Amino acid sequence: MNTKGFTTSILHSDRAGGIEHGSLHKPVHFSTTFEHASSADIAAVFQGKQAGYTYARQINPTVVALEKKLNLMEDGLATCCFASGMAAISATFLSLLKAGDHLVSSAFLFGNTNSVFQTFQNFGIEVTFVDATDAANVAAALRPNTRAVFVETIANPCTQVADLAAIGTLCAARGLLYVVDNTLTGPWSFRPKAVGAGLVINSLSKHIGGHANALGGSVTEVGNFDWSTFPNIIEAYKTGNPQNWGLVQIRKKGLRDQGACLSPEAAHHISIGSETLVLRQRAVSSNAQQLAEWFAARPEISRVYFPGLPGHPQYERTRSLFRHAGSLMSIELKPAYDVFRFLDALELTILTTNLGDNRTLAIPVAHTIYAEMGAARRAEMGIADGTVRLSIGIEDIEDLIADFAQALDKAR
Ligand SMILES: *Cc1c(COP(=O)(O)O)cnc(C)c1O
Repeated sequence: MNTKGFTTSILHSDRAGGIEHGSLHKPVHFSTTFEHASSADIAAVFQGKQAGYTYARQINPTVVALEKKLNLMEDGLATCCFASGMAAISATFLSLLKAGDHLVSSAFLFGNTNSVFQTFQNFGIEVTFVDATDAANVAAALRPNTRAVFVETIANPCTQVADLAAIGTLCAARGLLYVVDNTLTGPWSFRPKAVGAGLVINSLSKHIGGHANALGGSVTEVGNFDWSTFPNIIEAYKTGNPQNWGLVQIRKKGLRDQGACLSPEAAHHISIGSETLVLRQRAVSSNAQQLAEWFAARPEISRVYFPGLPGHPQYERTRSLFRHAGSLMSIELKPAYDVFRFLDALELTILTTNLGDNRTLAIPVAHTIYAEMGAARRAEMGIADGTVRLSIGIEDIEDLIADFAQALDKAR
């Protein structure tokens, strides 16, 4: 059992895996192909009877080293990495669900996840979107063919916090797979394993990598779900401990067959970035808390969405489940102020999509990332035309406050 702290574990994880040439970091292995010592070896590796490398679409030493770190972060049994967070989400459900199955999802979703769930419906997988801030709404949507429940921890852009613990209890009682996208909280602030999640998904492109220089995604098996009760596991993968069956199928169908593998170079960048995850999380969450309180007191702002403010509907839940309220917030300007003028006046804050970067980022969401979904679905998600999403970085807080203050002055 690992008894070391979060950061110590991450920093020393590569050394535990066998050091190559004294290298402090796991080297970046670019070889796509791996030689085997004998035909007995190659047969055993391909049949999964012996650990080893087959082909880099399925397994690569640099990626495996990162997967071990993610296991430590999420206190998981096994992790499978993908080329992006979206690849991880798509691969998970395309590997585990089939036509006629039903998925219950939070209605408050990352825009591209919402989009891919719409696509699943073209293939006969039904998806019901519910307000997952209350587990009763999830319970009411369950059907005999429901196979899984999917939620994000803190939703983007309006920061709704799912009823994580009660949904976990519900899924356990009904024998349902519970999949939690932990991207917005990250594994230091919150481990979905603690509320009964079966699989935990992370976009590594955000806080875990942290520097906006690599895309990646992961799925972690945390050992809470009994896969022997899941009807869609292929016979060939029902070998060994049932705890592993789900991730084996995701690895084979989602990674080997669908092919969205993480590159070794991206795995290296993400791995280095993850060493400072806790330091960065401390900095961004402190900045975000101070800024949210500052915005809430400003006369130009009508609403601040941030789960660390006492007026937030899930403030108590946030305090009881997470170490901190995160670094994402949204603000709404009063009608007398012009959102585009405000954004164009920002000097330090960067106008861009993405979140979880070291730099502070801003985006007018209705006009950009949520434009395609249309006004009706935006209204359901609580997104107004004047909503500005902010991802707070690690800059010095005085500089951030000065930047927002001068931009608000110019928005009049
Ligand atoms: C960014 C994000 C994703 C997708 O991750 P990519 O690595 O950009 O594909 C999924 N879920 C959430 C909550 C995200 O913020």
